[in-house]
Amino acid sequence: MFTSIEGRAVVVTGGTRGIGKGIAAVFAGAGARVLVTGRDEESAREAVGETGAAGYVVADVARKADCERVALAARDRLGGLDVLCANAGIFPDARLADLTEEDIDRVLGTNLKGSILSVQACLPLLRASGRGRVILTSSITGPVTGYPGWTHYGASKAGQLGFMRTAAIELARDGITVNAVLPGNIMTEGLAGLGEDYISGMTAAIPMGRLGTVDEIGHAALFLATDEAGYVTGQTIVVDGGQVLPESPEAVG
Ligand code: NAP
Repeated sequence: MFTSIEGRAVVVTGGTRGIGKGIAAVFAGAGARVLVTGRDEESAREAVGETGAAGYVVADVARKADCERVALAARDRLGGLDVLCANAGIFPDARLADLTEEDIDRVLGTNLKGSILSVQACLPLLRASGRGRVILTSSITGPVTGYPGWTHYGASKAGQLGFMRTAAIELARDGITVNAVLPGNIMTEGLAGLGEDYISGMTAAIPMGRLGTVDEIGHAALFLATDEAGYVTGQTIVVDGGQVLPESPEAVG
């Protein structure tokens, strides 16, 4: 058995829907005290009810002042912070030829800058914890694979790993680990928005023959938050039902 994380103070950015909500539910189920964040207050309120989180903060990860407000809320409402799950992200698609400067800024601003700002704002609290954990939600898209329409998204997700590797070195002596979970295709509200054709095409490409669940990402994140994972830093865990493995469509199934 792993040492319990009961009572640990946890923030999950983008914890109001999808994967973040799954991470929040798994951590709250393990007895952690969780704050979720997102921009929409109504879904934040609902997520608290559904996950057993201790509360929410309405905040945009792309804004430094909002990230600082989240850290203050962790200090005031949880008494500190042990685990930051920097999960908030967006994946609007646009082919490279059509990509606008605004598209690039929005995706990189939320997914990459948002991760950096979130970690930066929480650093004093994570240092004070003595066993701080940063868990980034990256993706297979960018670090391992590519998909048409997601040049900017893939760059943001690969960029998170570049950030992770140096942050892991800089923060190691503070006892803080920095790792990433790389989900494959996980059934979330955001993914459902990509449509039936996308979902059935992806299902056919996954050796396990199904999309992943948000809980399955939550459990990978929970492992990285345990005391037993304390010597793991700057690393990634792919959670994708084997999706990155086949060399060709015929190799599936
Ligand atoms: P989702 O269902 O659309 O949920 C996204 C969450 O992030 C929501 O809580 C949303 O709340 C929040 N969010 C978005 N922009 C934000 C911002 N600027 N500031 C604060 N919160 C923000 O998406 P998901 O599928 O769960 O994806 C979550 C993460 O997993 C992303 O980083 C994504 O890249 C990654 N991922 C997902 C999959 C997948 O298959 N679903 C695969 C690989 C990686 P508001 O809209 O209210 O702000």
